[in-house]
Amino acid sequence: MFDYKAPQNLLVDRVILVTGAGDGIGRACALSCAAHGATVVLIGRTPSKLEAVYDEIEAAGYPRPAMCPLNLETALEKDYQDLADQLFDTFGKLDGLVHNAALLGPRTMLDNVKAEAWLQLMQVNVNAPFLLTKAMMPLLRQSTDASVVCVSSSVGRKGKAYWGPYAVSKFAIEGLMQVLADEQEGTSAIRVNSLNPGATRTSMRKAAYPGEPPEKNPEPSEIMPAFLYLLGPDSKNTNGQALDAQ
Ligand code: NDP
Repeated sequence: MFDYKAPQNLLVDRVILVTGAGDGIGRACALSCAAHGATVVLIGRTPSKLEAVYDEIEAAGYPRPAMCPLNLETALEKDYQDLADQLFDTFGKLDGLVHNAALLGPRTMLDNVKAEAWLQLMQVNVNAPFLLTKAMMPLLRQSTDASVVCVSSSVGRKGKAYWGPYAVSKFAIEGLMQVLADEQEGTSAIRVNSLNPGATRTSMRKAAYPGEPPEKNPEPSEIMPAFLYLLGPDSKNTNGQALDAQ
């Protein structure tokens, strides 16, 4: 496991946006950021799941989050701009952006992948992070210490048979990370890195490996040290890196 012990007040006064915050790793990330003092912006497609996370954060007495249901498959550039305007009015800045939401999609030989499924997955896993990043850059520039985290996968670093558009989309998010990180290097207070969670006990993992005993893999809450490291000030000089949470 990534060796980092986050101080309790690590993220005090930081505003951190997490996509796919209603379930799995994104949910754990939102809860963990809030527990360390951040005001979390919860983005996801299922309002009831976001509401449950919102309630959990409030009940724990952490900073009150913001909840923004948004379907990354259908959202248009204007929707991201509206979100940015809303966040600008409410917070005036953004200190953390976690591109976590993703689809697993069809796992089969590439020539069996339906064009529609390919395009749907690229919309959620690649186009949405681009559009969201583009809309959030002015807000990230208002932060004195901003961190963008692109959640990747081992198949986004080394291609693997039958991992289809998912693997290709994770290569793309690594590319987005590298290009953006290089653009910001030495010119802004924004750092950009990718993080491979490794096998983690979520519904996506279950869908990918239906025969695997879930208890074989850590809970999402157990892989949070790497997320906290990247989102807090201790990673200030880490830019353009591809890290592993386990
Ligand atoms: P889950 O499937 O458990 O959660 C995915 C999240 O993304 C859900 O909250 C889901 O929302 C959201 N999401 C999916 N589609 C959309 C959409 N169109 N609009 C908005 N939100 C959407 O996956 P994990 O938690 O396992 O995965 C999180 C990240 O970690 C992903 O990027 C994944 O690729 C990566 N990863 C995971 C690994 C693992 O072992 N679990 C290993 C390597 C990488 P909803 O719940 O409403 O459907």
